[in-house]
Amino acid sequence: MNQRTTTNFFDTKIEFLKGVGPQRAVTLNKELNIFTFGDLIQYYPFRHEDRSRFHRINELTEELTAVQLKGRIRSMVVVGEGYKRRLTVEFTDGTGVVEFVYFQSIDWHLKHFKEGGEYIAYGKPQRYGQRFNFSHPEIETINPENENGGYFQPVYNLTETLRKKHLDSRFLSKVMRTLLEQATPHFKETLPEELVRKFRLFSKTDAMWNIHLPESEAALNQALRRLKFEELFYNQLRLIKNKILHKTEYPGQIFTNLDLVKKFYTEGSMPFELTNAQKRVLREIHDDLKTGKHMNRLLQGDVGSGKTIVAFIAMLMAIGNGAQTCIMAPTEILADQHYRGLKGFAEALGLKIALLTGSTTKKGRKLIFPDLAEGNIHIIVGTHALLEDPVQFKNLGLCIIDEQHRFGVAQRAKLWAKNPTIPPHILVMTATPIPRTLAMTLYGDLDVSIIDELPAGRKPIKTVHRYDQHRLNVFSFLRDEIKKGRQVYMVYPLIEESEKLDYKDLMDGYESVSRAFPEYHVSIVHGKMLAYEKDDEMQRFVRGETQIMVATTVIEVGVNVPNASVMVIESAERFGLSQLHQLRGRVGRGAEQSYCVLMTGVKLSKDTRLRIETLCQTNNGFEIADVDLKLRGPGDLAGTQQSGLLDLLIADLAKDGEILKAARAAAESILNEDPTFILPKNEPIRSHIDSLHKESTNWSRIS
Ligand code: ADP
Ligand code: MG
Repeated sequence: MNQRTTTNFFDTKIEFLKGVGPQRAVTLNKELNIFTFGDLIQYYPFRHEDRSRFHRINELTEELTAVQLKGRIRSMVVVGEGYKRRLTVEFTDGTGVVEFVYFQSIDWHLKHFKEGGEYIAYGKPQRYGQRFNFSHPEIETINPENENGGYFQPVYNLTETLRKKHLDSRFLSKVMRTLLEQATPHFKETLPEELVRKFRLFSKTDAMWNIHLPESEAALNQALRRLKFEELFYNQLRLIKNKILHKTEYPGQIFTNLDLVKKFYTEGSMPFELTNAQKRVLREIHDDLKTGKHMNRLLQGDVGSGKTIVAFIAMLMAIGNGAQTCIMAPTEILADQHYRGLKGFAEALGLKIALLTGSTTKKGRKLIFPDLAEGNIHIIVGTHALLEDPVQFKNLGLCIIDEQHRFGVAQRAKLWAKNPTIPPHILVMTATPIPRTLAMTLYGDLDVSIIDELPAGRKPIKTVHRYDQHRLNVFSFLRDEIKKGRQVYMVYPLIEESEKLDYKDLMDGYESVSRAFPEYHVSIVHGKMLAYEKDDEMQRFVRGETQIMVATTVIEVGVNVPNASVMVIESAERFGLSQLHQLRGRVGRGAEQSYCVLMTGVKLSKDTRLRIETLCQTNNGFEIADVDLKLRGPGDLAGTQQSGLLDLLIADLAKDGEILKAARAAAESILNEDPTFILPKNEPIRSHIDSLHKESTNWSRIS
């Protein structure tokens, strides 16, 4: 260990840096997890303040985020009492006058600044009547370092403790300069020269200097581009390498015989013509299944795009070659629906299908388990109950996982273990379209198939936004639709923190709907009901005995009632974009024109308006996912937490799609040519990966 600390400059402990020392080192350890020179130098600023120029007061606009001014204090006055006590400073540069306001450190300011003195100030202008006003701008005396402007001040993420101890952005940028000077001879280029040249990237050294202390805005952007590229390149290299490893290390059962699939096509039980997208995806799946390589595939398709039939036909590919299959859904309602939907198809082909969920009785289980173990059951549909130990197959060949973002490692292992000889092929289906950039990182180690076409004859859902006070108009529209024989969903939010309130909203809603539509029957489904109660209600609605379904988001995923053509979403402002899109997907499944009504209060934030407008404008899940990514950032999108995606230090998947694409293509082409990086030109990759490995086993930070 010791040897490494002395041989690798970047492993040197931070206390040995001039300007830091042991005490500050402890604070940096605790607050920012910075232990070594390497940690510090990779603590990138999240933005820079442009101090390269001075604005003139007469060119200020409200759009400017922050400006630097150079001028004179004309007056300083303390006004107000108690918590209203504040210092107001009139500041002029000859082109106009602005006002600075300080509520804090008033006495400090009075002591350090004088009327008539010349200063430099930095802050955000806000229009206040005729004048611009600055709240708590930074102000400093003019000195040779700042008098001409000319630098970009890095801004680092800080904690309260750091601020209190004056370990602020200024401090960090000062020690960073010292560190960069010492580190420069130690920087090693981590990218092959070929890539640096091809993409016109900054060298590692230039990038490191300019990310912290940029010479110009252009240099800063180049530094960012270089470091993002590097990060995404190594991220993709790892994922694609895993994918290749997976393919070479794990065999899969070989399913070549398509007789059963043909029988399904020809013997008339196939209810419709497949869309071209469905056919293409089935070809992609069959290409996997016939090769002997293990399939690990993600099937993305918007709600209603027809993933179920694709799953069924994939299962036929396996069953026709003597294997068993399972399909796992996240809820009982969904499992049940799959079972009901597939039963007819399966039985027409002479196949045995079973359902296993948490509510399957002991007696029911006793019937299923032996049949499954002996291979008499061809398809088993279920929930997580399928993962339990007594569920044993004779020869499980294919697992379909429906509507789940990404199942965890432990669950995956359990599924694999269901066939001890040779792991079952895996097809994960999701109706949450993921923007391509995100899919590349999140699912970069899976193969991805996309159904990007809806079955013919579907009318696009019409989506409108209505305010709560126009509820009566909405109700009369619902009445018209129900008269035509349609059914209606009314969905209420259910968010855990305010479960009680939500429940009350739901019940109030149910009562007012029942009162408003005395001539119709109203169903209600929510999370507090027992499984069989929910199921009964759901079935009443499916059979058309009730016309209106009042529900919480339990109906969100997968439920299919083609005659339901109107979806009213209450408090739509409380739902996320992709969740609204999912909910809307419950309608538009039949031949009739379908509608989605988004109900909200009048007061909406800018983001909420954008969400609602996006939904009114498009039905395309991928477009919606892109907006969602931009609004929320990748960290909040479903499934990202467990993927290590958040380890990205500098790249931003919402913005860096182009860089990601280039980095991925570069990683692919290098892996194709030189999978183990033995060519001399790929030496930088080899040694960088080595150093990353060392870093992850570096124990020095524990002492
Ligand atoms: P999802 O992709 O959301 O799971 P489903 O598989 O539930 O979609 O399919 C939605 C509806 O579309 C179902 O009623 C299904 O029978 C129907 N469907 C699927 N594929 C086609 C097709 N090629 N032509 C016509 N209808 C189809
Ligand atoms: Mg589905």
